[in-house]
Order: sequence, then structure tokens, then C-alpha cells
Amino acid sequence: MISRVVLRRCIRCGAKAVKPRTGPGRTTRYRMMPCLPIPNELPIPACGRCRSEYLDETTSSVLVTQLHAAFLDDLRVRVRLATDILSQYISLRKLELRVGISQGYLSRLRAGVGNPSPELVAHLALLCHDPLIRLRELEQFWALPATEWPPLPPRMPRCDLSIRGSRPRASGGLHDRTHQ
Ligand SMILES: [Zn+2]
Repeated sequence: MISRVVLRRCIRCGAKAVKPRTGPGRTTRYRMMPCLPIPNELPIPACGRCRSEYLDETTSSVLVTQLHAAFLDDLRVRVRLATDILSQYISLRKLELRVGISQGYLSRLRAGVGNPSPELVAHLALLCHDPLIRLRELEQFWALPATEWPPLPPRMPRCDLSIRGSRPRASGGLHDRTHQ
């Protein structure tokens, strides 16, 4: 039996060119990632002319499942690259101690066992930007008393503070401190 794909009309551009489409180069926002690649083989109804996508309920539920798998894969790749970089500066055991995770956890993640949390991946990523300095800062951070660690807030350029000529209100934010 031959299954015919029925083309539907695109409500955005008017072309009768909407059908399930696959292929590379498609991305979507997923949690904190603005451009998570959509698996190439996953069909999503889309317009052949303007590329608008039309997600129905079935496609959406399949998409969510597959995107979550792609998201976890992505995190595993990131954690592996981060530990590759950081292990040139510190042993994984010391790193585990310094970021407060259980011994052996990074080795297991590096071996592809388990799923790292986005929070851990984010921490490791920040440490990778100048590992020597960041790792030393983290060591000092834990060595300081709980109330004495916050660094001084960065100076904000004046022009960024006023909107449409109005004066900025006094900030009650975390980093608002009086210098003496
Ligand atoms: Zn269209």
C-alpha cells in the first residue's frame, strides 16, 4: 500500500507545502539552551517555502522525548570536554572535592555513565575559562567565612543605568553595597 503524504496549506505564506520534514540544521530552545539541535531523522510538519513549523500534539510529545534525550547527550559531551580540560590542571578527585560532589562521580560521568546536572555542567564550564585562576578562586572561596567571600561588584558604566533620561532608582539588589 502506498501512503500518500497530503500537503497542507501554510497559514504563514499561503503555499500548499506543509508536510512532515526531516533534515539537519534545525534547532530549538530547550530549557537553558537557545539552540539545541533537533535530531535530523525526527519528522516535524514544516512549510517547504517559508520553513514555518507546525507542531501537532503527537509530533510534540515525540519531540519532547527525543529532545530530552538529545539534551542529556549534549550535557554528557559538555561534561566530558570540561573534565578533559580541567584534568590538565587538577586531579578529578580534587576537583570533586572542590565542587562538592561525591568521589568518583566525575570519572563515572567521563566514562558516559549517568547524566550530569545542568548546574554541574555550568560550574565546570565556568571553571574552564582560565582554569588556574578559577580553581584558585574556588579554593579561596571555600576557605573564607560565609559572610566574607562576596567580591566587590563590578562598576557599571553610567550610560547603561538611565533609561529615557530618567534617573535610576536606588537598587536593593544583592550587590548593592556601600563602600567605605
Ligand atoms: Zn509557508
